[in-house]
Amino acid sequence: MNELEIREQLTTWVQSDPGNTIPKTQKPIFDAPEVGVARADDGLFKEFQQSALIGPTHRLPSDWIENARSVISYFLPISDWINEANRTGDRPSESKVFARFYGELFSERLRRRLVSYLLDAGYQAVAPTLTPDFSVKDMNSNWSERHVGYAAGLGTFGLHAGLITRRGTSGRIGSVVTDLELPPSPRPEGGYQAYCLHARGFRCGQCLPRCPAKALHYSGKDREACSDYLKKVQGPWCQRTYGFAYSPCGKCYVAIPCESVCPPDPIRS
Ligand code: SF4
Ligand code: SF4
Repeated sequence: MNELEIREQLTTWVQSDPGNTIPKTQKPIFDAPEVGVARADDGLFKEFQQSALIGPTHRLPSDWIENARSVISYFLPISDWINEANRTGDRPSESKVFARFYGELFSERLRRRLVSYLLDAGYQAVAPTLTPDFSVKDMNSNWSERHVGYAAGLGTFGLHAGLITRRGTSGRIGSVVTDLELPPSPRPEGGYQAYCLHARGFRCGQCLPRCPAKALHYSGKDREACSDYLKKVQGPWCQRTYGFAYSPCGKCYVAIPCESVCPPDPIRS
């Protein structure tokens, strides 16, 4: 089994599984995935543990599978019709709310399918965030899908703290650790913010005023302000309006240059 087969298999599942739809509309939630691979012994995983943002509780791939060799990470870009509906107003659009709920169910299913696929082929495989050992404490998880995606070359971080991939920021990320040896994907040149226009020295910051909670600043994201707003404002509103206890927002991921692409350099006048 090689990386191309895994990429093709994931793409086939995303494009053919009826779970990748919002039942009320029968329209797709996600486009074809971006797929990347990190070596399980990549030094970056140890660096994550030393970072003030992630911390020592973040696990190494070998904490999930003793003989881990690779981490497969995927990014599922949200379909344009859902992004478009969420570009206006302070509240999440109806399709965004349903995409968050059904989309995460589908992404979990995708990880389970990938784990079964690898197990059936004779390899060990675990989707960390689906195990009982996965935990989130004080807003820090012991397996950050965004950081794993960065390690696997899927993209880099933006001023909004999301991962900007070649297919933009608006999407969901998942990963599977395995003892199958796969070649690692190259990370983008230019460091951990290489795809963000602001970090590249261009005028941007368009994600900042998108946040209704004013949680985004040039100095970084106020994670507590974001989390409070989701819990106290967006969540209860979604519950009242759509009957979902979910608190999707994602306003900072749409109507910006990095919504659906890695933004090219603007033409300087
Ligand atoms: S909107 Fe601009 S500043 Fe914000 S993350 Fe995207 S590229 Fe960076
Ligand atoms: S998810 Fe919503 S509240 Fe949180 S930073 Fe983005 S726009 Fe602001």
